[in-house]
Amino acid sequence: DAVVHWFKRDLRQSDNRALSQASAKARSKNVPLICMFIISPQDYQAHLTSPARVDFELRTLEVLRGDLGEKGIPLYTATIEDRKVVVGHVLDKCREWGAKHLYCNMEYEVDELRREARLVRLGLEKGVAVEVVHDDVVVPPGALKTGAGKQYSVYSPWFRAWEKYVHERPHCLEEAATPLPNPDYARERFQNIFDAALLSAPPNKRLSDEKRKHLAHLWPAGEHEAQSRLTRFLEEKVHKYRESRSVPAANSTAMLSVHFSAGTLAARRALRLALANTSGQASHGGWIAELAWRDFYKHVLAHWPYVCMSKPFKYEYTDIKWEYDDDLFRKWCEGRTGYPIVDAGMRQLNSMGWMHNRLRMITASFLAKDLLLDWRLGERYFMEHLIDGDFASNNGGWGFSASTGVDPQPYFRVFNPTLQSEKFDPEGTYIRKWVPELEGVEGKAIHDPYARGAGKVVEGRGYPRMVVEHKFARGRALERYKGGLGRG
Ligand code: FAD
Repeated sequence: DAVVHWFKRDLRQSDNRALSQASAKARSKNVPLICMFIISPQDYQAHLTSPARVDFELRTLEVLRGDLGEKGIPLYTATIEDRKVVVGHVLDKCREWGAKHLYCNMEYEVDELRREARLVRLGLEKGVAVEVVHDDVVVPPGALKTGAGKQYSVYSPWFRAWEKYVHERPHCLEEAATPLPNPDYARERFQNIFDAALLSAPPNKRLSDEKRKHLAHLWPAGEHEAQSRLTRFLEEKVHKYRESRSVPAANSTAMLSVHFSAGTLAARRALRLALANTSGQASHGGWIAELAWRDFYKHVLAHWPYVCMSKPFKYEYTDIKWEYDDDLFRKWCEGRTGYPIVDAGMRQLNSMGWMHNRLRMITASFLAKDLLLDWRLGERYFMEHLIDGDFASNNGGWGFSASTGVDPQPYFRVFNPTLQSEKFDPEGTYIRKWVPELEGVEGKAIHDPYARGAGKVVEGRGYPRMVVEHKFARGRALERYKGGLGRG
């Protein structure tokens, strides 16, 4: 007999609800705990998972395997090409190991919810009791309702309800116990799992050695790294977060999204420590409110699953007439639009697999409104390149910026990229870091070199002119959005 935990996007052994319950069950039955992780290349394809993200997961698995191994807990890993047979494979393994209990944490995207439902059903047929547990969010989807009993579609009242829930039910922040060591005989019995080689990335998701080294240096993997990053942030930066969070050169955000999205850090742990550390000071609320956005978008996703099917949350914007221009799209992707702040953001993404939130908003707004390209192209490009790619937050962020999502930026608010640049990167420090063609450009010319006397220099270095004039683009966007209801 044995008890199994199936790791998915919860790659940590501490404060992991399903794992903790699996461990308690194993203890109560006095049987070993076995952990598993499955790669499904088809899933990676369907979800546009970036090679950077896959690499981060694999590096994390190494850490996890070491930690579990010290407790005599084996971590079985396998690559299953066809995503439809993953559930069957997991249950077959349970039977092979004689396990009658399987635990995992719930994922809320539509494919994943269907998978969890199938897992429970098929488990019944095969004699494996499956427990699927809420863990990923602080407050489970469905727990917060408006006075009329509906799901909130506006963030502010939702946030007030979320805060109230956390305050009234402090157990939602309780730490889940870390798994206990296995009985000694487990090591011998599952030696083949301990000895098996770890997975490698599917061929179409592999990074070059150089890129892999670069990302491993920038984003060390595993839960220990996540926890020390969180501690450093709470000690050194959180008190300045509110005033500096929008300034990309200030390097003032937590840079923890990669850990939340791989599950190397539990959101409730971050909230618990932030609350304990900040003793209710207002400035700290800023960070907690950002953390809550993550829960918000997962609630949206669970309640309105059609957002997983490439449909805008606001159906009235289904028929906006977009431009389809491959060349412009490519320029946006490569950071060659001639708008320094936009180009800096895209180059940061391409280099680091991460972009500052302000830049995500600026580049997304630029794609949807200035270039008038379908926001779903940008959403897709982000997923294919972000190391922290998370469907709910990415879809929510794109919907916000393109004004097609839940609680969005009003459609008539069109970011002026040059003004955004002057406001949030006043000295041009961020731009100079990412756009080497603009390195020597001084003063305000950094925001618009061709119009502000630096044209000759930057032209010589190959920096492009603006691909579209903002004033014209703004007018065009307003017209198309207004006429979005099919008329264009
Ligand atoms: P901090 O500012 O330190 O915030 C702490 C945590 O709060 C973040 O790690 C994140 O988990 C959460 N958070 C903060 N802002 C948001 C937000 N607006 N929406 C949801 N959660 C938030 N975040 C992702 O994790 N994955 C994505 O794929 C993603 N795509 C985005 C796409 C667009 C167009 C936009 C506008 C935003 C997107 N975000 C995404 C949200 C946000 O930009 C990142 O979470 C943030 O930049 C991560 O950096 P940080 O950890 O330093 O954040």
